[in-house]
Amino acid sequence: MATPSSIINRLSADAINQIAAGEVIERPASALKELVENSLDAGARNINIWCDDGGLSRILVEDDGIGIGREALSIAIERHATSKLVPKENGAIDLTRIESLGFRGEALPSIGSVSRLKITSKTSDDNDAWEIEVEGGRVSQTRPAAWPNLTSGTRIEVRDLFFATPARLKFMKTARSEALAIIDTIKRLALCRPDVSFSLFIDSRKTFAVVGQSGDGDEICSNRIGAVLGASMANDCMKIDAERAGIILKGLASIPVASRSDSRHQYLFVNGRPVKDPMLKGIARAAYQDVLARDRHPILALFLEIDPQFVDVNVHPAKTEVRFRDPALIRGLVIGALRHAIANTGIQSSESLSAQTLGALGKAQIAQATSNYQRDYSYQASFIRPQAKSDSFYEGSRGYEIDNNGMSDVAPIGFIANPSANRFSPEQNDTQAQNSLLDAPLGAAKAQLHNTYIVAQTKEGIAIIDQHAAHERLVLEKMKAAMADKNLARQISLIPDIVELDSSDCERLLEKAQELEDFGLVIENFGPGAILVRETPAILGKVNAKNLLQDLADEIASSDEALGLKERIDAILSSMACHGSVRAGRVLRPEEMNALLREMEQTPRSGQCNHGRPTFVTLRLNDIEKLFGRK
Ligand code: ADP
Ligand code: MG
Repeated sequence: MATPSSIINRLSADAINQIAAGEVIERPASALKELVENSLDAGARNINIWCDDGGLSRILVEDDGIGIGREALSIAIERHATSKLVPKENGAIDLTRIESLGFRGEALPSIGSVSRLKITSKTSDDNDAWEIEVEGGRVSQTRPAAWPNLTSGTRIEVRDLFFATPARLKFMKTARSEALAIIDTIKRLALCRPDVSFSLFIDSRKTFAVVGQSGDGDEICSNRIGAVLGASMANDCMKIDAERAGIILKGLASIPVASRSDSRHQYLFVNGRPVKDPMLKGIARAAYQDVLARDRHPILALFLEIDPQFVDVNVHPAKTEVRFRDPALIRGLVIGALRHAIANTGIQSSESLSAQTLGALGKAQIAQATSNYQRDYSYQASFIRPQAKSDSFYEGSRGYEIDNNGMSDVAPIGFIANPSANRFSPEQNDTQAQNSLLDAPLGAAKAQLHNTYIVAQTKEGIAIIDQHAAHERLVLEKMKAAMADKNLARQISLIPDIVELDSSDCERLLEKAQELEDFGLVIENFGPGAILVRETPAILGKVNAKNLLQDLADEIASSDEALGLKERIDAILSSMACHGSVRAGRVLRPEEMNALLREMEQTPRSGQCNHGRPTFVTLRLNDIEKLFGRK
């Protein structure tokens, strides 16, 4: 510890700037963010960026904005000097109506205090361009500069970032990870301004480029999302469009089966400002909770428009976070809009999933083709598509053993158990009936393979349905509907099951006994480490009570604090539904298969099981023909 001193020093301007830089300029990507935000605030339509060595040796940003005039140059690099807040006569400013990205007047002086900064600029009413340099806080004269054939614009070069603060330099990660942060920063900014062209060169290689578009706001916004987040996002997404209390929410969200294993691809913009909202991950989880496993995350690009009075942007030096006056309202709006979209997506399969499937099929073919015929490699290469992700979709699931194949003798869903035959009976071949089935989105069931997958012929191609995943989903949706009507039938066990569990699990379940009763599950304390199961939800059929209770206990343990009541109910229902479904491995009759398909078509959210695994994949005839080289 330093010896206490009663002398209070006023810090020099340089020291103040360096301290501010500590907050504002955390790494090269944050310096770049400030520079590009300035370009956008200056009305630029074209922004070109070069970064070398992860941005540590050089960052260069060139724009065609309004430029900085000769006199203004030396003011721009002063601390708390900004053109974006106009003081009233008494000097007061209005921080509640900020419409520009910048407003703190801190970025340029902060950058100048820790690097070698050179600003060259030209305004349209001056024939000459001017430049100024700042090196570790030392400011040069303003002098005339060479300028390309452009009426106005600014070129800002930052060399040797943090050379003046070696301690900070030590915190930098590898050039590669700094470069990744830079790309992410530019993507965020590109997403919120589809009307502006961006190009980014990293170590002289063009790494990212998008062209600004004009026209309908929603349309160019969707196009930009596709351009930045990839075509799969453009195809496998749901449009979000909602409004509540004057707050507008727009954007795109991935359909559940197109999820990712991390939450990095979730973007939120508030009044055109990219923000990192720690709430967003939780919001996404709550909205998709019912259709995604815990370790899967949707891709989101959401744009909130809200009266600036109701959001405080001045809560973070780097302006990356905002504070809402009514966070619950925002949360409700976003969750509601996402849920609504998920429920209304209907029966939509994932385009990228089909592509992956075809890719995998193509690979199988390559292996064979190579060994048998030594085919031409360039031909084979065209088949190689991204490796199918299907493995990871199964991470969230757990295998259950159910004694009677999960079917009940009490009102099962969709079809009656009869494992006798899976061959088509003559009346099934009735052409008329078959033709009308073909018109349905999931088509006419043609066969059951490996007692697990239903193959159906559709108008456009074929559909492959995972019967267990699909049925599990239908059970869940039925249970939810019954819950909503307070109409969940129970079945009384003639001989109540006694289930032995870890005592803390017993505690957890008994604490929720009342809530569980609403779900149709009636349990009682049966001494230490044991629970008596009196009644179970009829819809589940005959279940293995031990597995069901264990699962519920786990679910309660993991979700109790994290989720709200509604989400918890869904989580519990989802666990229960898993126990009431047709297991893979059960033989289905054609009527049963078709009944399952029809029910899927009519049930919301049936495109994925409760863990977010897809329930079906479709392949277009066209693509299948390509596989066989027919096209
Ligand atoms: P702020 O953006 O908060 O105003 P900065 O330190 O980032 O503070 O910039 C200071 C001022 O310099 C801005 O208010 C703006 O007037 C001017 N400026 C900075 N960059 C540009 C640019 N690329 N084009 C035009 N003016 C700029
Ligand atoms: Mg700024």
